[in-house]
Amino acid sequence: MTKPPPLLAAALAYATQGRPVFVLSSTKTPVRNCDRCRAEHTTPGDMEACECLTCHGFHAATTDPARVAAMFAAHPAGLLAMRTGAASGTVVVDVDPPVGLVTLAQLDAADVLPGTVMSMTGRDRGFQMFYAHPGVRITSRPGGLGPGVDVKADDAYVVVPPSVHPATGRAYRWSGDGRHDHPLTPLHPILVERLRATPPAVRTGTPMPAVRAPGGFWSQFLQPGAGTPYNRLHGLVTTVLKAREGERNATLHWAACRLTDMATEGAIGPGQDLDLTAAAEALRRAALESGLTPSEVRATIASGCPTAGITA
Ligand SMILES: [Zn+2]
Ligand SMILES: [Zn+2]
Repeated sequence: MTKPPPLLAAALAYATQGRPVFVLSSTKTPVRNCDRCRAEHTTPGDMEACECLTCHGFHAATTDPARVAAMFAAHPAGLLAMRTGAASGTVVVDVDPPVGLVTLAQLDAADVLPGTVMSMTGRDRGFQMFYAHPGVRITSRPGGLGPGVDVKADDAYVVVPPSVHPATGRAYRWSGDGRHDHPLTPLHPILVERLRATPPAVRTGTPMPAVRAPGGFWSQFLQPGAGTPYNRLHGLVTTVLKAREGERNATLHWAACRLTDMATEGAIGPGQDLDLTAAAEALRRAALESGLTPSEVRATIASGCPTAGITA
């Protein structure tokens, strides 16, 4: 059930921060364009200049409080969305478990996702990390940082708290202290180089990203073959995430033992595409998501996979 007053209050707060907002339909899709807009407004320039309240999706996003209020008056059951990119000074990294947790472990191993303002999405324990936009155009792309990790930046938008996910009935919420107005952490320079839409004019000597690019390691996932290390890890992560209460610790132990098997076989570890530490980190995150405590998780992984370097 949507509650228009809190949504409107939040929308006005984001607008005050300089973050343009707009309303989506109650099904999370953009509000349908009017007949005239469908016929006549076909270029980005037309759409930006359009005076309609809600036509053209994120192009209608605004920081004008009167327009924001009018949008919610016109669509009281709508969801609240924020335009991302330079328009709002944001680059959003959108993590969709369980696949996204494995990608996330790789990104974490490369140290390119420092802590920042985060929202918990209303579905499947997903979350979105809000980084400060670097000022160069950043490409928005599903899977932009690997399977299950999307980038929402220029010409894109995200649903924001306290919208309620239409499929689950769960509200989006800001993590931590629940506040959204902390300063955003800048997007890591390695990710800026990787995601920028235009190449830099001058080569800066930035080292090659430690994150694996699609086509190498990730191609195993994109064209799944049976039994690749990545697919096996994905299976372990999924099993840990889905374990029932009372079986979670045993499931995690089983999964950690399978990692040891894979390392013993030489399928992961030195010289392989998948690093044992990153694989164990993916299991650790999945186990925390499943509801085990951090100390249980450390002890169980250390017991099942002592060489992973997670100490109990
Ligand atoms: Zn229109
Ligand atoms: Zn229009």
